[in-house]
Amino acid sequence: MPDARGFMQCSRCKAEKHTNDFHRSTLRKCGFDSRCKQCSRARVRAHHAQPAAKARQKIRDAEPEVREAKRIHHAWWIKTLEGKRWTMWHCAKLRARKADIPFTITREHVVVPERCPLLDVPLSFGTRTDRANSPSLDRIDPRLGYVPGNVWVISFRANAIKQDALLPELELLVRNLARRIQGLPGLQTDSERVL
Ligand SMILES: [Zn+2]
Repeated sequence: MPDARGFMQCSRCKAEKHTNDFHRSTLRKCGFDSRCKQCSRARVRAHHAQPAAKARQKIRDAEPEVREAKRIHHAWWIKTLEGKRWTMWHCAKLRARKADIPFTITREHVVVPERCPLLDVPLSFGTRTDRANSPSLDRIDPRLGYVPGNVWVISFRANAIKQDALLPELELLVRNLARRIQGLPGLQTDSERVL
């Protein structure tokens, strides 16, 4: 976050610089990149020197028919389990960056079980409008980030119910809902909770 004078610290070189020295970013709450312009230029240069980036550039520079073949392959791959695991991983990474949540998992941490471990329904990739049973990457403890040991794949519906709720909140919610449905008087308060 920039201070009152419009200065903030670069996450890379740690120098205090004016926001004019940071690129704007819609991905971050404060509206600026965490790295200063100088550091982000260095990062872009380093990125393009990487073998994978060189390979992607080669595809962009390739003949149209080669690019078309690659595009068809990618369209096929993204629909495979491997591709879908990558998409879950990648989308979580973008969400984490936007919300400033730690993200240290690799694709190997995205393990899709046969059934939802919370609702016990078979997991299957649905469509945009029918995705209740689609696999969805969840943070077990929402206070922690996407870090090894804190992620699992549950159904989209389970994730929608759980959201960022903590276990005591969920337990209280279920208990009070049950009491209301059974017509029992007096809702329990958080302090009366027996855990
Ligand atoms: Zn810097």
